[in-house]
Amino acid sequence: MPTVPPLISGGVMLTYRCTNACKHCAYRCSPTRPDYFMPEEMIDRTFAALAGEGALHGVHLAGGEATLHWDRLEYAVRSAGRHGVDVDYLETNVGWCDDFDTACQGFERLRQAGLTAVLISASLFHNEFTPLERTKAGILAAQEVFGPYGVIVWTPVVLRMMEDLDASKTHPLHRSCELLGLDPKRGDVWRIHDYLTPGGRTTEKLTEGVARRPAGEFAGQPCRSTLESTTHFHIDSYGNLFTGHCPGIAAATIENLHPEITEQSAPVYFSLWKGGPHALWKTLAPDFDPDPAGYISRCHLCLDLRQHLRRAGVYQELRPNDYYD
Ligand code: SF4
Ligand code: SF4
Repeated sequence: MPTVPPLISGGVMLTYRCTNACKHCAYRCSPTRPDYFMPEEMIDRTFAALAGEGALHGVHLAGGEATLHWDRLEYAVRSAGRHGVDVDYLETNVGWCDDFDTACQGFERLRQAGLTAVLISASLFHNEFTPLERTKAGILAAQEVFGPYGVIVWTPVVLRMMEDLDASKTHPLHRSCELLGLDPKRGDVWRIHDYLTPGGRTTEKLTEGVARRPAGEFAGQPCRSTLESTTHFHIDSYGNLFTGHCPGIAAATIENLHPEITEQSAPVYFSLWKGGPHALWKTLAPDFDPDPAGYISRCHLCLDLRQHLRRAGVYQELRPNDYYD
């Protein structure tokens, strides 16, 4: 019977709301997601639950964009410290870094609360919303406040590539590709961002240059190992736990991080665990009409299937609602 193995490393998402709506966002964050942040009492309950995880190395704080609510973010950093949970870093798109001084002030506030490092996003997707000069101001300020080992740029390769872009502007993806001599049709966007996972908004916005396969070809690909992976789990602002890289499939919550998962308690998870999205289609969604254009990955098919099931409204494990809207 499946359950969630001990948690090893993951993220606490304080909100789904973000200043950006990046084309690769697995959690489909954007400015139109509800203006909802994890409340203080839930932050405390989350870290209390995580404190009981003996194998946990640490967590990162994330959104959405967690700096949209500074007080709550600071509260989360302090709460983690009170509960003895290591925060590896805060993930931020640094869209809020108007200049070096503003960025230093923001980071210093969090350093005083106990934060020791930040991860700053640098990609062509982020550059659609965040000009490079803000990214650079954020990196310099973070180095000043947290020291050289307290800053992770994700990724330095793409940051170097973007040096040729006008730092004062944002660039639509097609334009930055044009300026940098990249051809999305040849898969260059995926090649330079080699960490992309083929799920979430990626399957809507970044399918160019990626081969599609008919839904039937994904038969016999169970998701057991991915769903049981807890090396990059996420807990969202509602207390839902997502394992693997599988947003929107919540078989557990902070109230019980390790439930026994049965065909009755979480039929979608169970079916995916056992047989993958093809099995999900055949068992729970026989009326589903797959896209004749095909799918770039099993996770693409899985999301299409889950959106179909979600419309029926019966599977409570498919959460939160607005992930599927
Ligand atoms: S900045 Fe991060 S959370 Fe926001 S939309 Fe982009 S990838 Fe998603
Ligand atoms: S197909 Fe679905 S369950 Fe399987 S790894 Fe992808 S998102 Fe997760």
